[in-house]
Amino acid sequence: MPSKLIPKDHLKEMAPKNKEWFEKYKTKTPSYYTNIQEFLEFCAYKNDKYISQLDKTDIDSYFKTLKEFHAKPPTIHGRYSALSDFRNFLHALDSYTFDEKYLSAILDYEQIEIKKPTIKKALSLTQVKYVREYNHLSAKSVKDEYIFELFFQLGIREIDLVACKFPKNKSAVVEEFIKKVPKGSIKVGTINSYLQRITNHLKKIGLYDENGRLISSGDLTENHEAYCLQCPNCKISFENIPENWVLTRTESDQDFRLYCSHCKGVPNVNGSH
Ligand SMILES: [Zn+2]
Repeated sequence: MPSKLIPKDHLKEMAPKNKEWFEKYKTKTPSYYTNIQEFLEFCAYKNDKYISQLDKTDIDSYFKTLKEFHAKPPTIHGRYSALSDFRNFLHALDSYTFDEKYLSAILDYEQIEIKKPTIKKALSLTQVKYVREYNHLSAKSVKDEYIFELFFQLGIREIDLVACKFPKNKSAVVEEFIKKVPKGSIKVGTINSYLQRITNHLKKIGLYDENGRLISSGDLTENHEAYCLQCPNCKISFENIPENWVLTRTESDQDFRLYCSHCKGVPNVNGSH
């Protein structure tokens, strides 16, 4: 708990109308009310807005000050949860005064700072399609495609992508992506901001609704498991799309088998045997 955000002699009373809403919240939700009281008193100290007029700037200012007061991550986390709960409470109580957009910035905050998923979840093929389209059109398309495709095609960990530790056998497509981006230019922050952008993009077009969960690099590596196969001959992984695969019979084998369309099951291509 940080020390008081507002100097004691500057503490203003909440406006009576604000107090009314606060009292309703206090009665129904006793767990968070001290946090909300702090937020409302802070807002009253900064400006005299009516509660329904509070917006992103108030939230920004509140969290900025909390951080200046060296609030620890669990404290910040608690405040996000409290504010989000307060917002939902008011919206449920009076969706006309407190519409869908009311303090919705708090939901974005939660996404950025709280919900780092631990369970990996591959994207659906529709999501993959739209993320690729986004990558292609993005202002940062080279880096965006690099991040997405290397996770997808290689299934490597984030730490290895940042350190450029790639498997020995790689497809020509992957080699191309690697050539385009200077070594060391993808940092953890680059990946995080990319993940945030594709989460927002999918949300915006109605293809992602995971209650504030951010798409993780683990999800992208999970795509590799879901949609790539390793060629039994050259041991390189390729996406499971027709141009990468052929059904063929080798000299030593009676059966038709699936091989990548690059080595076609011929021994000694790319060091295979
Ligand atoms: Zn092959």
